[in-house]
Amino acid sequence: MAVDSAFSSPLGPPACQKDAKALQFIEEMTRNADLIQERVLAEILSRNAEVEYLKRYQLDGATDRETFKSKLPVIKYEDLQPEIQRIANGDRSNILSAHPISEFLTSSGTSAGERKLMPTIKEELDRRQLLYSLLMPVMNLYVPGLDKGKGLYFLFVKSETKTPGGLLARPVLTSYYKSDHFKTRPYDPYNVYTSPNEAILCADSFQSMYTQMLCGLLERQQVLRLGAVFASGLLRAIRFLQLHWQSLAYDIETGTLNQKITDPSIRDCMVQNLEPNQELANFIRNECSKQNWEGIITRIWPNTKYLDVIVTGAMAQYIPTLDYYSGGLPLACTMYASSECYFGLNLNPMSKPSEVSYTIMPNMAYFEFLPHEPGSITGLTRDPPSRLVDLVDVQVGKEYELVITTYAGLYRYRVGDILRVTGFHNSAPQFHFVRRKNVLLSIDSDKTDEAELQCAVENASQLLREFNTSVVEYTSYADTSTIPGHYVIYWELLVKDSSNPPTDEVLDQCCLAMENSLNSVYRQGRVADNSIGALEIRVVRNGTFEELMDYAISRGASINQYKVPRCVNFTPIVELLDSRVVSAHFSPSLPRWSPERRR
Ligand code: AMP
Repeated sequence: MAVDSAFSSPLGPPACQKDAKALQFIEEMTRNADLIQERVLAEILSRNAEVEYLKRYQLDGATDRETFKSKLPVIKYEDLQPEIQRIANGDRSNILSAHPISEFLTSSGTSAGERKLMPTIKEELDRRQLLYSLLMPVMNLYVPGLDKGKGLYFLFVKSETKTPGGLLARPVLTSYYKSDHFKTRPYDPYNVYTSPNEAILCADSFQSMYTQMLCGLLERQQVLRLGAVFASGLLRAIRFLQLHWQSLAYDIETGTLNQKITDPSIRDCMVQNLEPNQELANFIRNECSKQNWEGIITRIWPNTKYLDVIVTGAMAQYIPTLDYYSGGLPLACTMYASSECYFGLNLNPMSKPSEVSYTIMPNMAYFEFLPHEPGSITGLTRDPPSRLVDLVDVQVGKEYELVITTYAGLYRYRVGDILRVTGFHNSAPQFHFVRRKNVLLSIDSDKTDEAELQCAVENASQLLREFNTSVVEYTSYADTSTIPGHYVIYWELLVKDSSNPPTDEVLDQCCLAMENSLNSVYRQGRVADNSIGALEIRVVRNGTFEELMDYAISRGASINQYKVPRCVNFTPIVELLDSRVVSAHFSPSLPRWSPERRR
């Protein structure tokens, strides 16, 4: 389709008229970033002028940045917990927002071991939808012809709970997939999925994955891009194929649907898609039965142009495995978002993962940036709010923690993400995602911090008491060499009575005790999503941690300042630890987890 030259964009020639509008919108937003930010803040503050939280700080109707910054504190989730709890318990007064809180979005970030509850309002769905609508127009600038085929995306809903006051609590993507915005989205030739809505919306993860994989195999020649939200999700799909290709090939051969797929709406919709296809079944058996799965993605889906998965931040650990299975296909990280707020998008989605930068869209929320000096005491104290800088005032090369004020009632809220400014698109800065603060271990969306790990080790080591044994040192490692990955905890033990050392059985139980002590996102990954494997304790021989210190000192660490790292990922250190392992133990069963009602 010829595109009116009036719509041409500095980002590149748009693929169609609709794209031209989206690109123009990006230009407008990024050119006027400061003005938009000022308006967003004024809008949030004026509509919420009468809410309890803002009145408490005597904003007295002011909507300007100076007053806002001088009166409102910069807060963390825990500071807001009383208000969140009241809303969860059913208090419908205007506590945080003048618009009714429509539901809670459950973050993968936890507080006291439970998912954080993020309030949201109905219109936030429109804002999220708007950001989604910008992704393909940008992608079309770099990858032509995406309207000639489909996307195989593995998308899932997760369990929902209700708060005591009756509000739904569920992950943001579950909320989005279940919304009309997603379910009744208009046909867009550039955004056609192989997965039927019925499969995406099935809460049983096996049935959902099976059907999505089956549909992807049936349309393997049409698939132009493969994706999941995070890299770990796509690898889980590959693992699923490794485990279930025989059944999938059988279904394709016979034109029937596996009896384990009992969801009536999936069965109804699949009846129309299935007919016997011997040739395809043979092909799949032939490819999947090979020992070597290198490049399996491009063998099965030969027209794939790129993988659409987030591989920035904690997900970077999966890049080598994705490269292995895809034969090095480009990895596209398209957006940066959270339960609290969707932030922005990558205007150069085909860039190398290490060079990915996200442009924060100034219409999504009001953004502030807390300068982050690595090693400083920032974060230990309540930072003087005046130190925060506005979106357009951040400096290239510097690191900041993201602080947001949203339409849904978060005011100067610290997200906990550390970002580094890499440049600007017009007046909107672009950020490299550096890391999430305080995350030691992560396999999927789980985030385990040092305090949680410490507590888990302490709880587990109680079991060693009767053997007069204690854990003298420990460290950890996220082992992603297998799918799903799992936590490895290295323990050095002090066995005081060598005639009665802890048995293997007890050490296995220690693994389980650790898992039971970890936060609910971890346990959900283990139990409901099967996205995390059994925790492993590797007992190392005595003196290993001293060797670790010697090694660090030989590389320049100061003896006075040396602290045992509670997580290791530097290969020589992992190798050193592994070479000293005397026994390895795994959780013998799944930890406790249930989608309980929120307190
Ligand atoms: P959740 O609250 O569970 O929705 O998780 C949101 C968090 O996931 C963000 O605050 C980031 O720490 C992380 N995240 C989201 N998008 C990206 C991305 N594109 N790259 C790296 N980390 C991301």
